[in-house]
Amino acid sequence: MSKLRLAIVGAGPAGIYAADILLKAEKQFDVSIDLFEQLPAPYGLVRYGVAPDHPRIKGIITALREVLDTGQIRLFGNVLYGRDITLADLKDHYNAVIFSTGAIRDAPLDIPGIDLPGSYGAADFVSWYDGHPDFPREWPLTATSTAVIGNGNVALDVARILAKHADDLLPTEIPANVYEGLKASPVTNVHVFGRRGPMQVKFTPLELRELGELDDVDMVVAEEDFEYDDASKLAIETNKQIMVIDRIFRKWRDEPQTGSSRRLHLHFFAKPLEVVAGPDGSVAAFRYERTEPDGEGGVRGTGEIREVEVQSVYRAVGYFGSPLDGIPFDERRGVIPNREGQVLDDADEPVNGVYATGWIKRGPVGLIGHTKSDAMETVRHVINDQANWWSPEHPEEEAVVELLRSRGVEYTNLDGWHNLDEHEIALGEPEGRARIKVVERDEMVRVSNKS
Ligand SMILES: Cc1cc2nc3c(=O)[nH]c(=O)nc-3n(C[C@H](O)[C@H](O)[C@H](O)COP(=O)(O)OP(=O)(O)OC[C@H]3O[C@@H](n4cnc5c(N)ncnc54)[C@H](O)[C@@H]3O)c2cc1C
Repeated sequence: MSKLRLAIVGAGPAGIYAADILLKAEKQFDVSIDLFEQLPAPYGLVRYGVAPDHPRIKGIITALREVLDTGQIRLFGNVLYGRDITLADLKDHYNAVIFSTGAIRDAPLDIPGIDLPGSYGAADFVSWYDGHPDFPREWPLTATSTAVIGNGNVALDVARILAKHADDLLPTEIPANVYEGLKASPVTNVHVFGRRGPMQVKFTPLELRELGELDDVDMVVAEEDFEYDDASKLAIETNKQIMVIDRIFRKWRDEPQTGSSRRLHLHFFAKPLEVVAGPDGSVAAFRYERTEPDGEGGVRGTGEIREVEVQSVYRAVGYFGSPLDGIPFDERRGVIPNREGQVLDDADEPVNGVYATGWIKRGPVGLIGHTKSDAMETVRHVINDQANWWSPEHPEEEAVVELLRSRGVEYTNLDGWHNLDEHEIALGEPEGRARIKVVERDEMVRVSNKS
């Protein structure tokens, strides 16, 4: 029986599901999989994107860990594709590669003032509060009033973490510096802005309802945003999710304010125009144009300009993938161009031996569960493409280990992840917390690789 030596680059859910699906699939060959991950720990955005106060979703790590623990996949953590290992190396050691490198950057928002001091990308803030080792440890939380631009779940995550009292986050896995930063935040008003109406939002009911359950935070919505047009009325009648969202808003519209120390305002029909600078050159206000329904499910500008005083702005308008050395990249969409996971060159022809899955394949939308169906599609092509696989010079499993060692790459492995996992849980135990994350890369590697 022949053997497939497969490299997977990126140990987020997409990469781990792809490995799992391939191992379980019906096929005419044996499989040996090496999973390369640039971080010392696996799980991608499940560890470094999902909010710390969503332990049920973080719990998906348990299922992903079970896949890794079957003993059929080797994990090489702290290995960056493009620096520690190259496409030429992969061709030398494997028959094929699947890229599942996800997305970690903010998509741009092209309005004046977006680069002012005090204007941030949501992805950077998320990486800070989730303790990503490649992001600064300090976050300037000095604003009393702040704006979040966007109407998806990431915007709600960011608004919730900004508005929530730090002590209510303490039982979660937030790193100590994040707790301290949030504890010192003087914020009293968090304003979320969406271009369209309340019945056209992208967030899900569960995440919306959660905002209303925050301790000592009042929800503020404006009655003028709820004069529904026919399209909105139809959406409420025909779409269960929208119906629930409408019900949540109704409750907030009816409820009196309780005098909480923090307020979370949801503004709709607000098209971002400008982040306005104050005399010191940093953020002083957010300017927007009031929009109205255009009768076709979209909105149009009304010409009415409004401004809200804020000292910081977070744009949560989507994530964006990063290019990989030697691999085609669609600069406009931030993805690897592909057909059902088969990577395509400039002439739209499949590149032999190279595949993609997850957010870097499809773009940064969709839940963790979607990466599973994604992986199924990609893996099907890997299996059926046997005639086009690479013919490596060094397919032996030890060869790649020797290569990394010869380069002095301090890689971590699955036992290392178990060490780090136990260490973080033990750190949390005396304080009754689920875990306390280790944040510095060197410390993650040191704890992982202790013998
Ligand atoms: C803020 C936020 C909150 C979210 N909350 C939820 C939620 O509550 N529920 C839900 O279902 N979904 C949620 N999602 C969506 C979910 O995180 C994604 O669907 C999923 O993580 C995408 O998986 P992926 O494996 O494609 O990418 P990722 O999870 O991004 O994994 C990619 C991995 O590749 C690694 N990598 C990148 N470049 C390289 C390289 N050059 N060399 C080696 N390794 C590399 C990265 O370090 C990372 O570990 C959230 C997303 C975000 C951004």
